[in-house]
Amino acid sequence: MLILRFAQQWCYTVLSPFFMAVNMRHFHIRWSDGKLDWQAFTTESEAEERAKELVLPDETYTIEKADQQCPRCEETARLLRKRAAS
Ligand SMILES: [Zn+2]
Repeated sequence: MLILRFAQQWCYTVLSPFFMAVNMRHFHIRWSDGKLDWQAFTTESEAEERAKELVLPDETYTIEKADQQCPRCEETARLLRKRAAS
C-alpha cells in the first residue's frame, strides 16, 4: 500500500502539471538559442521562476504562451508514450 501511495504521489507531482498544461492555456520557456523548453507551466510567473533557476549566465529567455494545440507538448507526449511502450 505504501508503494501505491508513493506511485500516486509521483503521478500527481510529476505528471499532473504536464497533463493539465496540455489541456489548457499554458506557458513555455524559450531559451536564447531558440529552443523551447519541454516543461509546461500553468502560469507565467511559474515559468518565470523556473527559468530564473535554470538560466545560464550568458543565456536569456522569454516566456511564451501556448494553447491546447501545442506542438511542443504533443512532441513530449509522443516521446513519453514511446518510452512507456518500449
Ligand atoms: Zn506546450
